Amino acid sequence: MHQNVEKILVSEEEIIQRCREMGQKINRDYAQKEPPLLVALLKGSVPFLAELIKHIDLDIEFDFMDVSSYAGTESTGEIKVIKDLDRPIKGAEILIVEDIVDTGRTLKTVRELLLSKGASSVKVITLLDKPDRRVVELEAEYVGFTIPNEFVVGYGLDFNQKYRNLPYIGVLKEECYK
Ligand code: 5GP
Repeated sequence: MHQNVEKILVSEEEIIQRCREMGQKINRDYAQKEPPLLVALLKGSVPFLAELIKHIDLDIEFDFMDVSSYAGTESTGEIKVIKDLDRPIKGAEILIVEDIVDTGRTLKTVRELLLSKGASSVKVITLLDKPDRRVVELEAEYVGFTIPNEFVVGYGLDFNQKYRNLPYIGVLKEECYK
């Protein structure tokens, strides 16, 4: 375990197992529909996307969006599109791939944006959910793990761009961000 991590909240094995379960559910849910276009939000969702797609056996495509969300550990509430999708999405069945839903602001905005561009449906899959912190109404269709209100790092999640490479979800020691 990394020296700055206080405890592991979700292990690598648990993440892989849950990705397998969610992948199988996606296979069933989209069996009679157009395969979804997975829209992963940079950068935090990259390790989750990489694991998840191994367990989806539909002819999916994926693309990336980059929207600004956090500075340090507190939500700014400001959302800016830094990188948009590469192609039009009119009529597409979209599945947004996110690392964590916290206040819900980022996803609410992105979901509305994609619907306004003509997507047929916009669903959300998130590795982690912190429902206690929600300030806007937003429910993800697929949730990996519901976690308490603690600042977590690893498996794509950062603190000042570090710790994204940890293969587990961990709670950072308080002295590291005080
Ligand atoms: P929201 O708009 O839901 O408040 O923010 C979502 C984004 O905030 C996530 O994509 C993530 O970048 C960041 N975030 C929220 N909670 C945490 C956390 O516990 N740890 C880390 N590293 N980032 C978080």
